[in-house]
Amino acid sequence: MDKLAIDGGKPVRDTFLPFHRPNIGKEEEDEVIDTLRSGWLTKASKTIEFEKMFADYCEVKHAVGLINCTAGLHLALIALNVGKGDEVITTPMTFAATANSIVNVGATPVFVDIDPTTLNIDTGKIEEKITERTKAILPVHFSGQPCEMDDIVSLAKEYGLVVIEDAAHAVGTIYKGRKVGGIGDASVFSFYANKNMTTGEGGMLTTNNDETAEKVSILSLHGLSADAWKRFYVKGFKHYDVLYPGYNYHMFDIQASLGIHQLKKVDKLWENRKRIVDIYNGSFEEFPEISLIPQIPREGSRNSYYLYIIALRIEKLRATRDMIASALQAENIGVGVHYKAVHLQPYYRRSFGFEEGQFPTTEYYSERVISLPLFPTLTDDDVGSVVSAVKKVVSFYKS
Ligand SMILES: *Cc1c(COP(=O)(O)O)cnc(C)c1O
Repeated sequence: MDKLAIDGGKPVRDTFLPFHRPNIGKEEEDEVIDTLRSGWLTKASKTIEFEKMFADYCEVKHAVGLINCTAGLHLALIALNVGKGDEVITTPMTFAATANSIVNVGATPVFVDIDPTTLNIDTGKIEEKITERTKAILPVHFSGQPCEMDDIVSLAKEYGLVVIEDAAHAVGTIYKGRKVGGIGDASVFSFYANKNMTTGEGGMLTTNNDETAEKVSILSLHGLSADAWKRFYVKGFKHYDVLYPGYNYHMFDIQASLGIHQLKKVDKLWENRKRIVDIYNGSFEEFPEISLIPQIPREGSRNSYYLYIIALRIEKLRATRDMIASALQAENIGVGVHYKAVHLQPYYRRSFGFEEGQFPTTEYYSERVISLPLFPTLTDDDVGSVVSAVKKVVSFYKS
């Protein structure tokens, strides 16, 4: 058996393969330079152009560009009147920002365990968590696989709740023929550097509701009645009024310069993602120490393939997931963990009394998942080296 690189053996690759590499081309570079030379660096015509493009892409009425997705979750909750004393139902298998944004409006996150076939919120377990204080459901389209939105929307209708989708992974996700973005009351996307499309940092809130769009837009610009762009371009001098104690959360044109071109490529690059996912699935299918996260193909639906995740059957191994992650890094393969269960993070244990055993499916995967590199410019050799490294490390630790 080959000696592991972590024990001083030769790594599978000579050079480090990062977990993610953004895909920025000449178009993005030229657009950013054009913006830098235009004399207008903050929110102006390019942000507005990108918002229009994004709304069209998601087949939704409004898109509001924001500084990042976390700001968008915060504003969505405020605009939809979720606040102190309210409860928001969400998943513990997510990034901290999902639950943090609930806490930051003074509401309480109420977790519902995940469905092992998708790692999305188990919609069959939502109803039992609804109380008089429940105000919203905040599902996350985990790794780009759409949640069961029909179930969520019908529960929300029945109990008078709002639906805010954390769509950070879901640019290009389709649920039963509909793009994610216009299904719930508001959806929030992320353009962080490692997401399917990026503006470095960035986010977008989409909604079909005129009032929600207007309120989010105003809140994102200090609560001012008219945004700076309109104030300076409209003829004659105009004052603004402060309508709400708003935030400085709006997107600016340097971000939008990247976004305009990233969005144009996203569907084409999805094909590369799918090809890589298929190679990985074929390579790990018969490996007894690994379970694949099943992708349930649903008529008319599409996964954005943001992440490629395997679950390690640690019962069959002499190593923890973290030991395997370290060993893979030593083989020169960058890996990630999406996610460690949010309810077991120190703040959530301390403030809400969460403990082990409350969400067993989440906890099971929280200890076993590992994300492998998945980005459109991976070559066949890169993908081959990831497969070889996983097989090498997992075989070594087989019990
Ligand atoms: C990336 C991410 C966010 C936060 O996005 P930012 O744009 O970095 O603020 C929120 N939720 C999930 C599930 C994410 O993956």
